[in-house]
Amino acid sequence: MAIIGIISGIIYLIIFAALGSWLAGRKGYSSGSWAFLCFLTGPIGLIALAGAPCQYTSSSLNEIIKKLDAKSSEGSSGSKPVTPMSSVRLSGKTWTCKKCQEENSATANSCKSCGEYR
Ligand SMILES: [Zn+2]
Repeated sequence: MAIIGIISGIIYLIIFAALGSWLAGRKGYSSGSWAFLCFLTGPIGLIALAGAPCQYTSSSLNEIIKKLDAKSSEGSSGSKPVTPMSSVRLSGKTWTCKKCQEENSATANSCKSCGEYR
């Protein structure tokens, strides 16, 4: 029965460690060290962290936002495949010839005007 008590105590402290790590991350502190502190002290560490001032100043927050913006724009340009104009114009029952811009029916494999294959 003593083992159950120890295990539930550890689970209890792990919950505080997880909360401490999350809260430290939000406040701009080292989440790893605060997780360890909350694991050791339980609610005391968590209360201390909750009472601690937010490390982020408006200027550093702006830098983080800029970094995130740069990352997101990199990601979007990298993930987006370059769509050729011919496939963009391809809509409905017709397709537009990439050579002469002639409208052709979807059933035609080559342009009726210049013979260019789509
Ligand atoms: Zn054509």
